[in-house]
Amino acid sequence: MKTGKDRVKPDKPGKPDRQDKPDKQGKRDKGERDHVPVLSDLEPEQASPEDCIFCRIVAGELPSRQVYADDHAVAFLDINAWHRGHTLVIPRRHVVDLVAGEPSLPEIAPAVDAVARMLNERLAPDGMNILSSAGRVAGQTVFHAHVHVIPRYADQPGFTHLVNPVEVPDGELDSVWRQISAAP
Ligand code: 5GP
Ligand code: ZN
Repeated sequence: MKTGKDRVKPDKPGKPDRQDKPDKQGKRDKGERDHVPVLSDLEPEQASPEDCIFCRIVAGELPSRQVYADDHAVAFLDINAWHRGHTLVIPRRHVVDLVAGEPSLPEIAPAVDAVARMLNERLAPDGMNILSSAGRVAGQTVFHAHVHVIPRYADQPGFTHLVNPVEVPDGELDSVWRQISAAP
């Protein structure tokens, strides 16, 4: 189940969103689109499965600190953990986000549940966030659907401390990975 250490850093931001820009008075150019933007308008640069980091992790072509796998989902530690034990649960098949294409949330829900309970049991955090971002505007940076399962600790409480962009040394990721993976 364990496949080794992560080495791949997150994608750099891609092309800017394709949106009509207002002028200085807040008016829009002639020809502006007047429909409500949909995800396909906002992310024209989706990765194909061939060059998708998460598909390559699923295929075992790239290493990850895997903590769980079933027929539909794989879970591994986030390489830039916001908090100790930050885990990503992803569908095995390539789907851009949880609201694109054929529904993927139902097939990964059991994995999300299992991972959240496992992290609770093994790491004994004080709380947990479970979230998923769909679309660049919502903060998504990797365009293969994923659910963040984020254990939370009393010394950094609340939503204001949720995103903690501190680079985590490999040794710390290895240490929490060992703790999660240890036989009960
Ligand atoms: P998003 O910003 O799309 O909601 O979350 C993507 C997450 O994937 C980020 O938290 C980022 O740190 C993580 N990530 C990006 N590339 C890799 C990788 O190669 N390995 C692992 N384990 N996590 C990654
Ligand atoms: Zn993919």
